[in-house]
Amino acid sequence: MEIAVPDFIRAIAPYVPGKPIEELERELGLSRVVKLASNENPLGPSPMAVQAMQKAMVKLHRYPDGSAYYLTEALATHMQVAPECLVLGNGSDDVIAMAVRAFMRTGEKAVMPHPAFLMYDILVKTVGGISVPVPLQGMDLDLDGMVAAVEDETRMVFVTNPNNPTGRFIPLDRMVAFLDAIPSSVLVLLDEAYIEFVNDGDRYSGVSLLTTYPNLVVLRTFSKAYGLAGIRVGYGVMAKEVALWLHRVRQPFNVNLLAQAGALAALEDDGFLQETRKLVSDGIRWLSEQLEAMGLITHPSEANFFLVDVKREGKKVFEAMLAKGIIVRSMHGYGFPRCIRITAGLPEENRMLMDALREVL
Ligand code: PMP
Repeated sequence: MEIAVPDFIRAIAPYVPGKPIEELERELGLSRVVKLASNENPLGPSPMAVQAMQKAMVKLHRYPDGSAYYLTEALATHMQVAPECLVLGNGSDDVIAMAVRAFMRTGEKAVMPHPAFLMYDILVKTVGGISVPVPLQGMDLDLDGMVAAVEDETRMVFVTNPNNPTGRFIPLDRMVAFLDAIPSSVLVLLDEAYIEFVNDGDRYSGVSLLTTYPNLVVLRTFSKAYGLAGIRVGYGVMAKEVALWLHRVRQPFNVNLLAQAGALAALEDDGFLQETRKLVSDGIRWLSEQLEAMGLITHPSEANFFLVDVKREGKKVFEAMLAKGIIVRSMHGYGFPRCIRITAGLPEENRMLMDALREVL
Protein backbone atom coordinates (compact mmCIF):
# COMPACT_ATOMS: atom_id res chain seq x y z
CA MET A 1 0.00 0.00 0.00
CA GLU A 2 1.28 3.48 -0.85
CA ILE A 3 2.08 5.85 2.01
CA ALA A 4 -0.31 8.80 1.96
CA VAL A 5 1.41 12.05 0.96
CA PRO A 6 -0.46 15.31 1.56
CA ASP A 7 -1.38 17.16 -1.62
CA PHE A 8 0.62 20.21 -0.56
CA ILE A 9 3.78 18.08 -0.35
CA ARG A 10 3.06 16.52 -3.78
CA ALA A 11 2.84 20.05 -5.17
CA ILE A 12 6.48 20.87 -4.25
CA ALA A 13 8.76 20.79 -7.31
CA PRO A 14 12.12 19.05 -6.68
CA TYR A 15 14.95 21.48 -5.91
CA VAL A 16 17.70 21.25 -8.50
CA PRO A 17 20.90 22.86 -7.19
CA GLY A 18 23.76 23.96 -9.48
CA LYS A 19 25.55 20.96 -10.98
CA PRO A 20 28.30 19.70 -8.65
CA ILE A 21 31.83 19.97 -10.07
CA GLU A 22 32.58 16.26 -9.52
CA GLU A 23 29.45 15.24 -11.45
CA LEU A 24 30.43 17.22 -14.53
CA GLU A 25 34.04 16.02 -14.35
CA ARG A 26 32.75 12.42 -14.30
CA GLU A 27 30.30 13.00 -17.14
CA LEU A 28 32.74 14.78 -19.46
CA GLY A 29 35.91 13.00 -18.40
CA LEU A 30 37.43 16.43 -17.66
CA SER A 31 40.07 17.07 -15.02
CA ARG A 32 39.31 20.79 -14.62
CA VAL A 33 35.78 22.06 -14.30
CA VAL A 34 35.14 25.69 -13.38
CA LYS A 35 31.99 26.41 -11.37
CA LEU A 36 30.80 29.99 -11.38
CA ALA A 37 27.16 29.17 -10.71
CA SER A 38 26.36 29.17 -6.99
CA ASN A 39 27.79 32.47 -5.75
CA GLU A 40 30.44 30.73 -3.66
CA ASN A 41 33.76 32.29 -2.60
CA PRO A 42 36.43 31.49 -5.23
CA LEU A 43 39.24 31.94 -2.68
CA GLY A 44 38.06 28.89 -0.76
CA PRO A 45 37.58 28.93 3.02
CA SER A 46 39.56 31.24 5.31
CA PRO A 47 42.77 29.40 6.37
CA MET A 48 41.99 30.42 9.94
CA ALA A 49 38.63 28.65 9.70
CA VAL A 50 40.28 25.50 8.34
CA GLN A 51 42.79 25.51 11.18
CA ALA A 52 40.07 25.98 13.80
CA MET A 53 38.06 23.10 12.36
CA GLN A 54 41.11 20.83 12.33
CA LYS A 55 41.69 21.66 15.99
CA ALA A 56 38.05 20.93 16.82
CA MET A 57 38.17 17.47 15.19
CA VAL A 58 39.35 15.73 18.36
CA LYS A 59 36.03 16.64 19.99
CA LEU A 60 33.90 14.99 17.30
CA HIS A 61 32.73 12.21 19.63
CA ARG A 62 30.84 14.86 21.64
CA TYR A 63 27.60 16.58 20.71
CA PRO A 64 28.11 20.22 19.79
CA ASP A 65 27.04 23.00 22.14
CA GLY A 66 23.35 23.25 21.25
CA SER A 67 23.33 26.94 22.18
CA ALA A 68 26.46 27.65 20.07
CA TYR A 69 27.53 29.92 22.94
CA TYR A 70 30.85 31.25 21.61
CA LEU A 71 29.68 31.79 18.04
CA THR A 72 26.49 33.47 19.27
CA GLU A 73 28.45 35.80 21.58
CA ALA A 74 30.88 36.69 18.79
CA LEU A 75 28.04 37.36 16.36
CA ALA A 76 26.23 39.49 18.94
CA THR A 77 29.34 41.66 19.28
CA HIS A 78 29.81 41.74 15.51
CA MET A 79 26.20 42.76 14.85
CA GLN A 80 25.90 44.97 17.94
CA VAL A 81 22.81 43.19 19.22
CA ALA A 82 22.04 41.14 22.34
CA PRO A 83 22.83 37.41 22.01
CA GLU A 84 19.12 36.71 22.63
CA CYS A 85 18.35 38.39 19.28
CA LEU A 86 20.22 35.70 17.35
CA VAL A 87 19.09 32.35 16.00
CA LEU A 88 21.73 30.23 14.25
CA GLY A 89 20.97 27.65 11.62
CA ASN A 90 22.35 24.85 9.48
CA GLY A 91 22.64 27.42 6.68
CA SER A 92 20.27 30.37 6.50
CA ASP A 93 17.82 27.93 4.84
CA ASP A 94 17.40 26.37 8.27
CA VAL A 95 16.51 29.74 9.86
CA ILE A 96 13.88 30.31 7.16
CA ALA A 97 12.53 26.82 7.82
CA MET A 98 12.25 27.62 11.55
CA ALA A 99 10.40 30.87 10.87
CA VAL A 100 7.99 29.06 8.58
CA ARG A 101 7.40 26.26 11.10
CA ALA A 102 6.87 28.73 13.93
CA PHE A 103 4.59 31.21 12.21
CA MET A 104 2.78 29.66 9.22
CA ARG A 105 -0.20 27.33 9.01
CA THR A 106 -1.81 25.51 6.10
CA GLY A 107 -3.60 27.95 3.82
CA GLU A 108 -1.74 31.02 5.07
CA LYS A 109 0.27 33.10 2.62
CA ALA A 110 3.82 34.32 2.07
CA VAL A 111 4.51 37.14 -0.37
CA MET A 112 7.84 36.86 -2.21
CA PRO A 113 9.57 38.29 -5.28
CA HIS A 114 9.63 36.28 -8.48
CA PRO A 115 12.16 35.15 -9.45
CA ALA A 116 13.75 34.62 -6.02
CA PHE A 117 15.86 32.11 -4.13
CA LEU A 118 13.89 28.88 -4.66
CA MET A 119 13.95 27.76 -1.03
CA TYR A 120 11.49 30.49 0.04
CA ASP A 121 8.75 28.88 -2.03
CA ILE A 122 9.72 25.30 -1.16
CA LEU A 123 9.88 25.91 2.60
CA VAL A 124 6.57 27.78 2.66
CA LYS A 125 4.96 24.87 0.85
CA THR A 126 6.33 22.29 3.32
CA VAL A 127 3.83 23.53 5.91
CA GLY A 128 0.96 23.88 3.46
CA GLY A 129 1.53 27.61 3.07
CA ILE A 130 0.73 29.42 -0.16
CA SER A 131 3.44 31.38 -1.99
CA VAL A 132 2.31 34.64 -3.56
CA PRO A 133 4.91 35.59 -6.20
CA VAL A 134 5.30 39.26 -7.12
CA PRO A 135 7.18 39.68 -10.44
CA LEU A 136 10.20 41.97 -10.54
CA GLN A 137 9.78 45.31 -12.26
CA GLY A 138 12.54 45.02 -14.81
CA MET A 139 15.64 44.45 -12.67
CA ASP A 140 14.14 45.83 -9.45
CA LEU A 141 12.01 44.39 -6.70
CA ASP A 142 8.44 45.66 -6.96
CA LEU A 143 8.16 46.78 -3.33
CA ASP A 144 4.83 48.55 -3.91
CA GLY A 145 3.49 45.43 -5.61
CA MET A 146 4.59 43.37 -2.63
CA VAL A 147 2.81 45.71 -0.20
CA ALA A 148 -0.33 45.53 -2.37
CA ALA A 149 -0.15 41.71 -2.35
CA VAL A 150 -0.43 41.53 1.46
CA GLU A 151 -3.83 40.21 2.52
CA ASP A 152 -5.46 39.16 5.81
CA GLU A 153 -4.05 35.62 5.40
CA THR A 154 -0.50 36.85 4.77
CA ARG A 155 1.92 35.82 7.54
CA MET A 156 5.25 36.53 5.86
CA VAL A 157 6.97 38.68 3.28
CA PHE A 158 10.39 37.81 1.81
CA VAL A 159 12.78 40.48 0.55
CA THR A 160 16.31 39.81 -0.73
CA ASN A 161 18.85 42.63 -0.52
CA PRO A 162 21.03 42.65 -2.56
CA ASN A 163 18.61 40.74 -4.70
CA ASN A 164 19.32 37.36 -6.26
CA PRO A 165 19.50 36.94 -9.31
CA THR A 166 19.71 40.64 -10.28
CA GLY A 167 22.26 41.83 -7.71
CA ARG A 168 20.39 45.12 -7.20
CA PHE A 169 20.49 46.78 -3.77
CA ILE A 170 17.62 48.69 -2.18
CA PRO A 171 18.75 51.76 -0.21
CA LEU A 172 17.79 52.02 3.44
CA ASP A 173 15.23 54.82 3.02
CA ARG A 174 13.20 52.73 0.56
CA MET A 175 13.41 49.76 2.92
CA VAL A 176 12.05 51.94 5.75
CA ALA A 177 9.12 53.09 3.61
CA PHE A 178 8.44 49.45 2.70
CA LEU A 179 8.51 48.29 6.33
CA ASP A 180 6.19 51.16 7.30
CA ALA A 181 3.66 49.90 4.76
CA ILE A 182 3.69 46.27 5.97
CA PRO A 183 1.30 45.44 8.85
CA SER A 184 3.23 44.73 12.07
CA SER A 185 1.52 41.32 12.32
CA VAL A 186 3.34 40.16 9.18
CA LEU A 187 6.88 38.82 9.58
CA VAL A 188 9.34 40.39 7.12
CA LEU A 189 12.28 38.12 6.26
CA LEU A 190 15.00 40.38 4.91
CA ASP A 191 17.61 38.12 3.34
CA GLU A 192 21.04 39.80 3.37
CA ALA A 193 23.01 36.75 2.16
CA TYR A 194 25.14 38.99 -0.10
CA ILE A 195 25.39 42.21 1.95
CA GLU A 196 29.10 41.77 2.69
CA PHE A 197 29.74 42.50 -1.00
CA VAL A 198 27.95 45.87 -0.86
CA ASN A 199 30.22 48.87 -0.39
CA ASP A 200 29.76 50.02 3.20
CA GLY A 201 27.07 47.32 3.49
CA ASP A 202 26.94 47.40 7.30
CA ARG A 203 25.77 51.00 7.15
CA TYR A 204 22.85 50.11 4.90
CA SER A 205 21.86 46.85 6.57
CA GLY A 206 18.35 46.29 7.90
CA VAL A 207 19.90 45.34 11.26
CA SER A 208 19.76 49.03 12.27
CA LEU A 209 15.95 48.88 11.81
CA LEU A 210 15.31 45.99 14.17
CA THR A 211 14.49 48.16 17.18
CA THR A 212 11.85 50.04 15.16
CA TYR A 213 10.30 47.01 13.46
CA PRO A 214 9.78 44.04 15.83
CA ASN A 215 8.34 42.03 12.92
CA LEU A 216 11.67 42.14 11.03
CA VAL A 217 14.09 39.20 10.73
CA VAL A 218 17.44 39.86 9.02
CA LEU A 219 19.06 36.76 7.53
CA ARG A 220 22.82 36.36 7.07
CA THR A 221 25.05 33.49 5.99
CA PHE A 222 28.63 32.21 6.14
CA SER A 223 28.12 30.55 2.73
CA LYS A 224 29.03 33.50 0.50
CA ALA A 225 31.62 36.13 1.47
CA TYR A 226 32.91 34.01 4.37
CA GLY A 227 33.61 31.08 2.05
CA LEU A 228 31.99 28.38 4.18
CA ALA A 229 29.07 27.08 2.10
CA GLY A 230 30.14 23.50 2.79
CA ILE A 231 29.74 23.66 6.58
CA ARG A 232 26.27 25.25 6.47
CA VAL A 233 26.03 28.14 8.92
CA GLY A 234 23.55 30.98 8.67
CA TYR A 235 21.78 33.14 11.22
CA GLY A 236 18.85 35.43 11.76
CA VAL A 237 18.85 38.66 13.77
CA MET A 238 15.49 39.62 15.22
CA ALA A 239 13.57 40.83 18.27
CA LYS A 240 14.10 38.59 21.33
CA GLU A 241 10.39 37.73 21.35
CA VAL A 242 10.55 36.41 17.80
CA ALA A 243 13.81 34.53 18.48
CA LEU A 244 12.15 32.68 21.37
CA TRP A 245 9.61 31.12 19.00
CA LEU A 246 12.25 30.12 16.47
CA HIS A 247 14.24 28.44 19.26
CA ARG A 248 11.13 26.42 20.17
CA VAL A 249 11.11 24.79 16.74
CA ARG A 250 14.91 24.65 16.30
CA GLN A 251 16.56 21.23 16.22
CA PRO A 252 18.75 21.07 19.34
CA PHE A 253 22.12 20.49 17.59
CA ASN A 254 21.40 22.23 14.29
CA VAL A 255 24.85 23.86 13.98
CA ASN A 256 27.45 21.12 14.13
CA LEU A 257 30.69 21.19 16.08
CA LEU A 258 33.01 21.85 13.12
CA ALA A 259 30.66 24.50 11.76
CA GLN A 260 30.66 26.41 15.05
CA ALA A 261 34.48 26.36 15.21
CA GLY A 262 34.91 27.28 11.53
CA ALA A 263 32.38 30.12 11.52
CA LEU A 264 33.83 31.62 14.73
CA ALA A 265 37.34 31.73 13.22
CA ALA A 266 36.07 33.04 9.87
CA LEU A 267 34.26 35.88 11.64
CA GLU A 268 37.57 36.97 13.16
CA ASP A 269 39.48 36.76 9.85
CA ASP A 270 38.71 40.23 8.57
CA GLY A 271 41.71 40.18 6.23
CA PHE A 272 40.19 37.25 4.34
CA LEU A 273 36.86 39.07 4.04
CA GLN A 274 38.55 42.19 2.65
CA GLU A 275 40.59 40.09 0.21
CA THR A 276 37.38 38.39 -0.96
CA ARG A 277 35.61 41.69 -1.48
CA LYS A 278 38.47 43.06 -3.57
CA LEU A 279 38.79 39.88 -5.65
CA VAL A 280 35.05 39.90 -6.35
CA SER A 281 34.77 43.56 -7.30
CA ASP A 282 37.89 43.35 -9.52
CA GLY A 283 36.50 40.16 -11.10
CA ILE A 284 33.10 41.67 -11.84
CA ARG A 285 34.69 44.79 -13.31
CA TRP A 286 37.03 42.74 -15.56
CA LEU A 287 34.31 40.34 -16.68
CA SER A 288 31.86 43.18 -17.39
CA GLU A 289 34.44 45.01 -19.52
CA GLN A 290 35.21 41.86 -21.50
CA LEU A 291 31.54 41.00 -22.00
CA GLU A 292 30.60 44.54 -23.03
CA ALA A 293 33.49 44.54 -25.50
CA MET A 294 31.84 41.47 -27.08
CA GLY A 295 28.65 43.52 -27.49
CA LEU A 296 26.76 41.79 -24.67
CA ILE A 297 24.80 43.62 -22.00
CA THR A 298 25.86 43.23 -18.36
CA HIS A 299 23.59 44.25 -15.52
CA PRO A 300 25.26 46.18 -12.66
CA SER A 301 25.28 44.21 -9.43
CA GLU A 302 26.30 44.84 -5.82
CA ALA A 303 26.68 41.13 -5.07
CA ASN A 304 29.32 38.55 -6.17
CA PHE A 305 27.36 37.59 -9.29
CA PHE A 306 25.65 39.41 -12.14
CA LEU A 307 23.32 38.81 -15.05
CA VAL A 308 24.54 38.94 -18.64
CA ASP A 309 22.18 39.35 -21.55
CA VAL A 310 23.74 37.02 -24.12
CA LYS A 311 21.32 38.21 -26.82
CA ARG A 312 20.15 34.68 -27.59
CA GLU A 313 18.57 31.81 -25.68
CA GLY A 314 20.46 31.73 -22.36
CA LYS A 315 19.72 28.06 -21.77
CA LYS A 316 21.53 27.10 -24.99
CA VAL A 317 24.56 29.17 -23.99
CA PHE A 318 24.48 27.56 -20.53
CA GLU A 319 24.44 24.07 -22.10
CA ALA A 320 27.23 24.86 -24.55
CA MET A 321 29.37 26.24 -21.70
CA LEU A 322 28.64 23.12 -19.63
CA ALA A 323 29.98 20.95 -22.44
CA LYS A 324 33.22 22.95 -22.16
CA GLY A 325 33.44 22.35 -18.41
CA ILE A 326 32.24 25.82 -17.33
CA ILE A 327 29.22 25.85 -15.04
CA VAL A 328 27.21 29.08 -14.98
CA ARG A 329 23.55 29.47 -14.02
CA SER A 330 20.84 29.32 -16.63
CA MET A 331 18.07 31.84 -16.00
CA HIS A 332 15.59 29.70 -17.89
CA GLY A 333 12.34 29.71 -15.94
CA TYR A 334 13.50 32.74 -13.92
CA GLY A 335 12.01 35.34 -16.21
CA PHE A 336 15.33 36.20 -17.91
CA PRO A 337 15.39 33.83 -20.91
CA ARG A 338 18.25 35.69 -22.66
CA CYS A 339 20.45 35.85 -19.58
CA ILE A 340 22.95 33.71 -17.74
CA ARG A 341 24.10 34.43 -14.18
CA ILE A 342 27.84 34.44 -13.55
CA THR A 343 29.58 34.34 -10.17
CA ALA A 344 32.91 36.18 -10.09
CA GLY A 345 35.76 33.66 -9.85
CA LEU A 346 39.55 33.71 -9.60
CA PRO A 347 41.26 35.66 -12.42
CA GLU A 348 42.20 32.39 -14.14
CA GLU A 349 38.65 31.04 -13.85
CA ASN A 350 37.27 34.30 -15.24
CA ARG A 351 39.67 34.04 -18.19
CA MET A 352 38.61 30.43 -18.84
CA LEU A 353 34.98 31.51 -18.77
CA MET A 354 35.63 34.26 -21.29
CA ASP A 355 37.59 31.90 -23.58
CA ALA A 356 34.74 29.38 -23.53
CA LEU A 357 32.11 32.06 -24.09
CA ARG A 358 33.96 33.44 -27.14
CA GLU A 359 33.98 29.96 -28.62
CA VAL A 360 30.30 29.36 -27.84
CA LEU A 361 28.88 32.65 -29.14
N1 PMP B 1 19.47 33.41 0.41
C1 PMP B 1 19.85 33.65 -0.84
C2 PMP B 1 19.34 34.87 -1.54
C3 PMP B 1 20.69 32.76 -1.50
O1 PMP B 1 21.05 32.99 -2.77
C4 PMP B 1 21.15 31.61 -0.83
C5 PMP B 1 22.06 30.58 -1.44
N2 PMP B 1 22.06 30.47 -2.79
C6 PMP B 1 20.74 31.41 0.47
C7 PMP B 1 19.91 32.33 1.07
C8 PMP B 1 21.10 30.18 1.23
O2 PMP B 1 22.21 30.32 1.95
P1 PMP B 1 22.67 29.21 2.98
O3 PMP B 1 23.82 28.52 2.35
O4 PMP B 1 23.04 30.01 4.19
O5 PMP B 1 21.53 28.28 3.28
